[in-house]
Amino acid sequence: MYDVLIIGAGIIGTGIARELSKYKLKVAVLEKDTDVANETTKANSAIVHGGYDAKEGTLMAKLNVLGNKMYEELCEELSVPFKRNGSLVLAFNEEEKYHLKTLYERGITNGVSGLSIIDQEKLREIEPNVDLKAIGALHCASAGIVSPWEFAEALIDNSVENGVELFLNTEVLSIEKNEDIFTIHSSSGDFKGRYIFNCGGVHGDLIHNMIAPPSFKILPRKGEYFVLDKSQGKRVNSTVFQCPSKLGKGILVTPTVHGNLLVGPDAQDMESKYDVSTTGEKLEYIKFKGSHSIRDINFRENIRTFGGIRAESDRGDFIIEESSVKGFFDIGGIKSPGLSAAPAITLEAMKLLKNSKIELIEKENFIKPRKHKLFMNLSSEEKENKIKEDNRYGRIICRCEMITEGEIVDAIHRPVMATTVDGIKRRCRPGSGRCQGGFCGPRVQEILARELKEKMENILLDKKGSYILTGELKK
Ligand SMILES: Cc1cc2nc3c(=O)[nH]c(=O)nc-3n(C[C@H](O)[C@H](O)[C@H](O)COP(=O)(O)OP(=O)(O)OC[C@H]3O[C@@H](n4cnc5c(N)ncnc54)[C@H](O)[C@@H]3O)c2cc1C
Repeated sequence: MYDVLIIGAGIIGTGIARELSKYKLKVAVLEKDTDVANETTKANSAIVHGGYDAKEGTLMAKLNVLGNKMYEELCEELSVPFKRNGSLVLAFNEEEKYHLKTLYERGITNGVSGLSIIDQEKLREIEPNVDLKAIGALHCASAGIVSPWEFAEALIDNSVENGVELFLNTEVLSIEKNEDIFTIHSSSGDFKGRYIFNCGGVHGDLIHNMIAPPSFKILPRKGEYFVLDKSQGKRVNSTVFQCPSKLGKGILVTPTVHGNLLVGPDAQDMESKYDVSTTGEKLEYIKFKGSHSIRDINFRENIRTFGGIRAESDRGDFIIEESSVKGFFDIGGIKSPGLSAAPAITLEAMKLLKNSKIELIEKENFIKPRKHKLFMNLSSEEKENKIKEDNRYGRIICRCEMITEGEIVDAIHRPVMATTVDGIKRRCRPGSGRCQGGFCGPRVQEILARELKEKMENILLDKKGSYILTGELKK
């Protein structure tokens, strides 16, 4: 019997798990996918927004600003790449310039720090490649960029080190409550617990409806992106937006924490909560809009396109509340700025638990996260020492990103093991470079098979059923 069951291992579920792991509680996380961060948390813009965009007085505004402030310390503690690169909203005419003022004033009311409206000269000083027709911008020095999946993985690794149990490939199918005890029926059997956090992302409404009368609906809204090679990563320093519309913050151009360039997303209301396909038509639109912000982006340097689904709720704000069923907490409708707000959403979720009858006693022996760096970011001396300790660090597997066998083996044997080719890619980057795994993919697969003592053909790319090898060509 668990004290707390968490459904969903995106940035929200993993964040809550880590916070709960600080207390003497029996906690389990149930995740339907093969890995954590496999839905919206792996497919977004990765921006830690300043917080001027959300309407005053909303949870989105309050938690974005608070979450943003928590990023430095958390990422430092968890060895997650984070950079405060600042953001710009461009104005191309007087009407848009007027709109910048509205955003600025809203930002000030929301408590955003580092906001200023800048003229064309200052704008070009900050971003020399900005479109020459841009006449000014809202500058937000407190905005940043992060690696969302590395963040979620670091959170769950540390949770598991501190006793949280993670059940992957475990889809919640139905929920019931008898007296004060919930029973979750899942694809891996039954789980009993006293409290439940529903962190199911775009599926949050369906999970809620398993135990309580409907109270919100999630409307999936897709966004598509280009990821460009590192040759384009220096076209911008900041995250560059155009003026927002009713559908959201519009197409942005941003560097990533690993030095690539990201351009997107659009906004498409969808029927399906699973359709993350990209289309020529939408990508053409994104290319057109992105090129409108930053000059001479070479889209021939595109190395990948992807889509992600926003959990747009019919309530318009984050939903962080106890449902009509006591002890069942919904953390739903966590659309953008959900990543930025995630650390603060965790604290808000903890308040729900503290208001219930549960006794929270801190652990005396909480294990701090281990510090680690990518091999390529080590000094020459550190690299040499690492290779002396373990010669697998001297064997480069991914030549684009210079990732060693040692790092891949380490990623497989972390507290939450990486078991898929993409799981390895998200943890330590082989396959993230120019060839997108064309050369290193089969070698990663071999290492996975060896370390997991599995047959090569059983190693998945990512999701359930995503087999890479289906049979032998020649006997
Ligand atoms: C295009 C796009 C751009 C964005 N850009 C930004 C940005 O730049 N900055 C920002 O702050 N935010 C951004 N966001 C929002 C941010 O990505 C989300 O707020 C955040 O990732 C939501 O995390 P989550 O944990 O709620 O959901 P998810 O990451 O989707 O996690 C939910 C988990 O629940 C699991 N699950 C669902 N149903 C079940 C079930 N029945 N049983 C077991 N498990 C289940 C899923 O498999 C999934 O792993 C963006 C979102 C999108 C789509």
